[in-house]
Amino acid sequence: MSITGEEIERAEAALAHNYHPLPVVLTEGKGAWVTDVEGRRYLDLLAGYSALNFGHGDDELLAVAHAQLDRLTLTSRAFHHNQLGTFASELAELCGMEMVLPMNTGAEAVETAIKTARKWGYRVKGVPAGRAKIVVAGGNFHGRTVTIVGFSDDPEAIADHGPFTPGFVTVPFGDAEALRAAVDEDTVAVLIEPIQGEGGVVLPPDGYLRAVRAICSEAGVLFIADEIQSGLGRTGRTFACDHEDVVPDMYVLGKALGGGIMPVSAVVSRRDVLGVFRPGEHGSTFGGNPLACAVGTAVVRKLKTGEPQRRADELGRVFASVLSELPSSAVDAVRVRGLWAGIDVRGRTGRDVCEGLLGRGVLAKDAHGSTIRLAPPLVVSEEDLRWGVSQLAAELA
Ligand SMILES: *Cc1c(COP(=O)(O)O)cnc(C)c1O
Repeated sequence: MSITGEEIERAEAALAHNYHPLPVVLTEGKGAWVTDVEGRRYLDLLAGYSALNFGHGDDELLAVAHAQLDRLTLTSRAFHHNQLGTFASELAELCGMEMVLPMNTGAEAVETAIKTARKWGYRVKGVPAGRAKIVVAGGNFHGRTVTIVGFSDDPEAIADHGPFTPGFVTVPFGDAEALRAAVDEDTVAVLIEPIQGEGGVVLPPDGYLRAVRAICSEAGVLFIADEIQSGLGRTGRTFACDHEDVVPDMYVLGKALGGGIMPVSAVVSRRDVLGVFRPGEHGSTFGGNPLACAVGTAVVRKLKTGEPQRRADELGRVFASVLSELPSSAVDAVRVRGLWAGIDVRGRTGRDVCEGLLGRGVLAKDAHGSTIRLAPPLVVSEEDLRWGVSQLAAELA
């Protein structure tokens, strides 16, 4: 059997089958390219679901991580350490906010945002005890905890995981009037992805984010933007909300914040919101650890230059233009924002197309059913990007 076959057999025998990976076994990566155990190279058009916005093995991020590994990696929050203040203040500044609550994974940061909103609702807004309500959007993906999948409408994510946490109401994504109608005096927050990533890179109608902002401001409700996948340069701006010049009350960040090196997530907000926490009311053993803060600060400094956003914007125009030339007989719809695309293919499953792409040296991932999601690292060259899309065009032809 091939090395690939042996590795897959060993993994499948000892791992829970909660994923169905493409049959490739990777060993190395640099920039937008990865290599498998057989020595074959692939262009990575998934980039760890946007966790690898700066590509594999970025020299600056690696240097910072290596240096911090040798100095101090973990203290717990029982003590201060010398990376924490820099990370929190520079991240808050990048977001135009005042306070940061660091966690590790995206789901933990979403949970933190939910706790923050409920606490704010009871302590600041004056919602009666136990009544706090959060409005979410249909088709959402916010992570995998029991509370979070409890307000998902993806049957696979929900199956046999209940009973679920109450206090969530779902309205259709993109429907501002439905949102307005769902908000009442017990509503503490609206939680949405400004662009739904796992849903298939679903873009809201123009003006939707501005309408969400207005509805939240009028009703005295927190607007929580889950920018875990859409944020930090992916769409050609620092945040997807920037495309409508909208500032939410809370950003939820993750994925690319860890530079593809380790899980780093955070809730970023104003003092009157995140200030509701008192000692002992929330925490995480690993959240805000020195290694995470050092890498997170290096990521923030890259974004502060504006260069990743500029690249995503410029290459995003090339991306949109070449994707618009995909054979129309094989494609139902293409949605693009920056270096992020959802492509609905006709007559084939997304999985089938991604298996075909694998054989052509391109890694991509299906979202739902017949949708393929492409999220190249923002460091991809224009030539490689054009080549990757040409392989998709050939696969669909
Ligand atoms: C990936 C993702 C999450 C969950 O992040 P994890 O690190 O996998 O827990 C939450 N929200 C959005 C929008 C995501 O894309």
